[in-house]
Amino acid sequence: MNGYRMRPGPCEWGDSELGRAEDDPRLRIAPAVRVSDGNGLASGRGHPGFLEVGGRDLGAYSGPACDNRRPVIPTDATGETAGAPSVTPAPKSAPSRAAGRDAGDPTRVRGRAAHSDTARRPPARPGLSGLADGALEAWLEAEGQPAYRARQIRDAVWRQHAQTSEELLTLPAALRTRIDEAFAMDTIAEDEVKVSDNGLTEKTLHLLADGALIESVLMHYPARGFAGPSRPIHRERNTLCISSQAGCAVGCPFCATGELGFGRDLETAEIVDQVRHAARRLAPAGRHITNVVFMGMGEPLLNLDRVLEAVAILSDPRQFGLGARHVVVSTSGVVPGIRRLTKLGPQFTLAVSLHAARDPLRDVLVPLNRRWPVAEVVAAARDHAVATGRRVSYEYVMISGVNDTDLDADALATLLRGDLAHVNLIPMNPVAHTPWQASPPDRVAQFAAQVRHRGVGVTVRANRGQDAGAACGQLAADRAGEPPAPAVAHRREVIVRQSEAALRGSRSLDSLPADLAQAVSNGEGH
Ligand code: SAH
Ligand code: SF4
Repeated sequence: MNGYRMRPGPCEWGDSELGRAEDDPRLRIAPAVRVSDGNGLASGRGHPGFLEVGGRDLGAYSGPACDNRRPVIPTDATGETAGAPSVTPAPKSAPSRAAGRDAGDPTRVRGRAAHSDTARRPPARPGLSGLADGALEAWLEAEGQPAYRARQIRDAVWRQHAQTSEELLTLPAALRTRIDEAFAMDTIAEDEVKVSDNGLTEKTLHLLADGALIESVLMHYPARGFAGPSRPIHRERNTLCISSQAGCAVGCPFCATGELGFGRDLETAEIVDQVRHAARRLAPAGRHITNVVFMGMGEPLLNLDRVLEAVAILSDPRQFGLGARHVVVSTSGVVPGIRRLTKLGPQFTLAVSLHAARDPLRDVLVPLNRRWPVAEVVAAARDHAVATGRRVSYEYVMISGVNDTDLDADALATLLRGDLAHVNLIPMNPVAHTPWQASPPDRVAQFAAQVRHRGVGVTVRANRGQDAGAACGQLAADRAGEPPAPAVAHRREVIVRQSEAALRGSRSLDSLPADLAQAVSNGEGH
């Protein structure tokens, strides 16, 4: 890497150096996985990202030029992605192009795309992997089974990543049948895997039992072989970015998931099964998931009960056994959720998607800001950092000419100065149907320097997997199909109009979309 260090992101934390995946046999994918290579492997495109020299971000962008007008790959009648070697047809219940479009919100032109009308129900049988502490023991007791069966089942679920009852090899056949009757051994299917960044990023579209589609992204960070006398050697890391909801009600206009609208909350098992699937794919090569980040589809703090259950399972040494320090949960600013977490004490690292330090602009970029404005979000995050002693990370997606001005850098530094906080600047991943583009590298570098100069820690993060539709929600959005051109044009117009008004300093007078208002009122109930 010629002495350059590349910073990972947007779903990654800490230092990492990306090596050449094709040279590393550990990075081969288990053969059972169905993979389409998107465009990344075929073109041999290098890793997009930001370069860092001598521990200082230079902000020199080495990735492809961002093009937010990249057309959405049209879908054919079967829902299969045209142009890319997709593996399986879309599920029958995948939504049609115009299905369920939210007539009240012109920014949701794809409508309820991550789900059909039938996709609003969780699976009928609870997932075995998502059972609350003690529930398996209670069920076994009611079945007249000895207590040690619980350990056997957990081992199969979490060490062997069993996905069918036939894989519960230590159990008698009658018990396996009873388990099948009572529980779902697996709650998700891998519908399509897209590999990019020369094998370093694997993006998976998962099909849920009711037809809903969610995504997870596995990012490999190979070990640094030689670190030099004064630098520590870093172990290989495999970070999995997972979804907490199908779709998202918040509706950030730069986010592919936001355009889909809200489908439903994921069940606990549907959250942790994303981890089991990735762990199963890594296992044949003797590799493990080392970090889990809730930065996939959905707003985790609007499904907080399930997210907390999932984190408890993932950190339980009898189950997945991942240290809570290796888990990051990102929120767009659900203040009651942050305050609830503060009362619980440190559960994981908290990240806050800020994207603007000024309310008028944040009203547009993160519509939830109309309910919980910047000052309230940062106050809650500050209290959380003080109470837990854990630094809060702030995500800031850089959008050219929108939130990347000197004024914004100053506002950000003023807002966070003196806090136990760190800012991650992420150049916007290209997504369809926004009028925006990523800030150019020199603007990102200047912005970073300005914030750093005012005493706030900043890292410039790399965009991973752009050739696999890096922005979470993009694969599901592609399945939803291309909305009619007038709807797309109208969406762009509305976003431009709203952001221009915001840049003139006017706060949004728009009320929250109905599904977001509903989600917020649920969130306030905590
Ligand atoms: N809903 C939560 C977690 C999921 S989104 C949240 O918003 O925090 C995870 C991160 O991806 C957020 O910081 C989000 O702003 C960012 N993101 C979404 N779309 C993006 C895009 N097009 N480019 C770069 N980052 C994006
Ligand atoms: Fe939802 Fe996060 Fe996307 Fe905003 S960025 S729409 S909160 S998933």
